[in-house]
Formats: sequence, C-alpha cells, structure tokens
Amino acid sequence: MNQYKGLLHVHSTSSHDGRHPLSEIAELGLRLGYRFVCMTEHAESLTPASYRRYIAECRHVSTAQCVIIPGLELECKGGLHIMGFGLVSWIRNDTAPRVVSSIRESGGIAVIAHPDRYNYQVSLDLADLVHGIEVWNQGYDGRFFPNHRSLKLLRLFRGQNPRVLAFGGLDLHRITPVSHLRTVVIAQDGSEGSILYALRNGDFTVGNLCLRLGSAGNRLNLKWLPLLAARGAYSFAREIRRRLRPSLQS
Ligand SMILES: [Zn+2]
Ligand SMILES: [Zn+2]
Repeated sequence: MNQYKGLLHVHSTSSHDGRHPLSEIAELGLRLGYRFVCMTEHAESLTPASYRRYIAECRHVSTAQCVIIPGLELECKGGLHIMGFGLVSWIRNDTAPRVVSSIRESGGIAVIAHPDRYNYQVSLDLADLVHGIEVWNQGYDGRFFPNHRSLKLLRLFRGQNPRVLAFGGLDLHRITPVSHLRTVVIAQDGSEGSILYALRNGDFTVGNLCLRLGSAGNRLNLKWLPLLAARGAYSFAREIRRRLRPSLQS
C-alpha cells in the first residue's frame, strides 16, 4: 500500500463560477505533486450530454502522475449542497436523500459540503445515507483548523452511523498561492478506482503541514504546534526580560 496526496472539492470553468479550465487544474496537480484531484462541478452548469464530454476531458487531461476525477456538487431542494466524487453520469437536482441515492447509483461518494453554510442544521436522516461530511472546507473554515462545529455535527452523525467519514475540501474556484488542504489516501496504486476505493473506505487523512485529521474526525497530530508554542513562550519571556531590565537598572 502507498500514500497518495491529492485535492478534493475543486471547480473548473465547467462550473459557472470556476476560473480555470481542466487543463490548468491538471497542470496545478502536476506542478505541486498531487496524485489526484476530485472535481465537484456545479450540476446546474452541466447537462447529461455535456457531463459525458466533461468526463472524457477529465480522462484526456489526466496523466500517470495526476488523475483528474470527475464529479459534481448539487444544490438540493432545501439548499443543502451535496458533493458526488467519481460520478460516471450527471445527476438531476432533487431532495437531499434522492440526490444521495442517485450519487450512490452512479458509483459516487456522497459528501455533505460546508455545513457552515446552513448553520450546521443538517437532518440526521441523512446519517444512514451519506458517506461523509466536509468538516474542513478551506473556503469557509480557513486552511489552519477544521471547523469544530462541523466536527460536532460529524460526531452526531457517527452516533447514528459510525461509517460516516470526515472529509476536507478546498472549494477551489481560483488558483491562489496559498497552501492547500490535502487529502492523503492509502491505496494500492494511483489509479482513479484505487483512490475512490480508499476514499469510500476511510483509508485517508486530511490536513495541512501541522495538523491532520483521521477519516473518523480524530485529530492525529499537531506536528509543529509544540515547537511553535515553545518558540512563542521563549520570545514572550525575552520580551518581558527586556522590559524589566531598565527598571531593574534604575
Ligand atoms: Zn457549495
Ligand atoms: Zn463548491
């Protein structure tokens, strides 16, 4: 088994608000050493026919070094956004439970996007249906820490169905120089099938350079945080000593 790092929740110009064509997303993946990118185009920007062409384009821009995996993001009736990673066909907008079952029928992974957008009010009825919740959305929650209220929602969902997983996504519409929230999967190989298999089974972590979350929403490490805290404490002590010195001398 190997580790492959990649990105989830990315929009290209196939979404009405995406700024970069698929070729530029593939280029970004190659340049930064990502092995996969899970696309999530707004479903209302596409049709069954244009999504078929889109899948062909994903295959076309994919390379042995970086696979571009097609997928959609649907705004369900009621306003909930649900992502489907690895969809082989376009999906019609409907109620959230129906969208999730269509995603499953299309071989995709169904994940509730950015709970912050709906003030964490998501029906527990979905707990037995979805694969996961996007507990860390770089656009809504920032790149430093996952959203603790989304993690609380995940715990609620997992109380009902322990198979619900913690996902993290970029919600990337425009490429910027900031670092990305990465997903690292443990998979047999870097093929689309193996990456999706690992994501579906929870064989992944999500995080930045300092902090990683397990797919159960558990915090794995705070690699550099103790170091940063020690450095902060040292600077603080030095500053206090500097301020005290003149008064000691007088
Ligand atoms: Zn969304
Ligand atoms: Zn999005």
